[in-house]
Amino acid sequence: MASNVALDITSIRKDFPILHQQVNGKPLIYFDNAATSQKPNEVIDAISDYYNRYNSNIHRGAHHLAQLATEAYEDARQTIASHINANVREINFVRGTTEAINLVASTYGRQHVKAGDNIIISEMEHHSNIVPWQMLCEQKGATLRVIPINDTGEIILEKYLELLDEKTKLVSIAYISNALGTEHPVREIIRHAHNKGAVVFIDGAQAIQHKQIDVRELDCDFLGFSGHKAFGPTGIGVLYGKEQLLTAMPPYMGGGEMIKTVSFKGTTYNDLPYKFEAGTPHIEGGIGLGAAFRYMQKIGLENIDAQEQKLLQYATKKIKELPEVTLVGTASKKSSVLSFLVKDIHPYDIGVLLNEQGIAIRTGHHCCQPLMERFNIEGTCRASFAFYNTTEEIDLFLAALQRAIKMLG
Ligand code: PMP
Repeated sequence: MASNVALDITSIRKDFPILHQQVNGKPLIYFDNAATSQKPNEVIDAISDYYNRYNSNIHRGAHHLAQLATEAYEDARQTIASHINANVREINFVRGTTEAINLVASTYGRQHVKAGDNIIISEMEHHSNIVPWQMLCEQKGATLRVIPINDTGEIILEKYLELLDEKTKLVSIAYISNALGTEHPVREIIRHAHNKGAVVFIDGAQAIQHKQIDVRELDCDFLGFSGHKAFGPTGIGVLYGKEQLLTAMPPYMGGGEMIKTVSFKGTTYNDLPYKFEAGTPHIEGGIGLGAAFRYMQKIGLENIDAQEQKLLQYATKKIKELPEVTLVGTASKKSSVLSFLVKDIHPYDIGVLLNEQGIAIRTGHHCCQPLMERFNIEGTCRASFAFYNTTEEIDLFLAALQRAIKMLG
């Protein structure tokens, strides 16, 4: 599809069968896209096609079905590689963002981080981008340094520059925050880290489905993302790494597929990307993820982004008219996440009452407890939009929210 065209949302919604159902007697309004996205028919069909026609284990199979499955799986890798401007050896299939981060912490991290070194993250990271680094720092006697954020939910860049030094081995930062939607200035963060000789992991869990990412242009050293947030299956994701870094890293898990030769005298490891893919992989997951990327390409990331920005601006403007509501996270650059609080009402109660009206939002700490601590709150209500959502749904959501406030107030 050409870029910068207004999307035909009615027709796009037909691609997503799950959207056409009633929940508690009301049409489903799905505003929990930051937790997981819905899947288009292309993805569902690609998975069922694999099981209906060519289910087989991949690689080294002499027979027809194994060849079809291998081709489809490796095609998916190629689709994803081209999409982010990487080469196929740099695309490692993993379970998701969490595994991508743990893989890098356990391999590159263990190899390079020593006592006295430091790793930098931000105050608004997902637990998956905190705990693996914390564990690594504990093992190595290194320090985890945390970039503070301001009241609007933006990283304070000057503080980052103060934290960076020659002992910084790694900076790991989300491109976009799942809790507040803030888009971080990742290019600047990467440039400054490189100036000090540190490598950068970009947590792309909330970015790959909204932005056209070019890893060469971005110059990140690693990028991780999860298929299920990008219209693909659960249990599959990608770790991208610069080839020379991945080549020098030790393997993560041992087992089948990641070996070249095994002998009791010693084992040699397979070439990239198989070195990091021990065991039978999530074959239908990889194939489904390839279909999801082709689907995003068909719609166009620029068009997706434009529609979601329209939804975000519309919802932000309208929700600000409700005196009981306070927005949490008002950064100047945001993706389609609206985090908010309603007076002293517990977010969970709002979530339950909205669910009664067919509306799915997420409530709680969004796996960002340190961020909640920073704002001195327990959690928020979070509505997160995808391009298949509509302004009409936002109107219905706001009307339902007002009813909920009345009932609880
Ligand atoms: N980082 C961010 C920013 C996320 O939003 C998430 C998922 N909520 C993760 C990491 C972890 O992703 P997964 O659970 O798919 O591994």
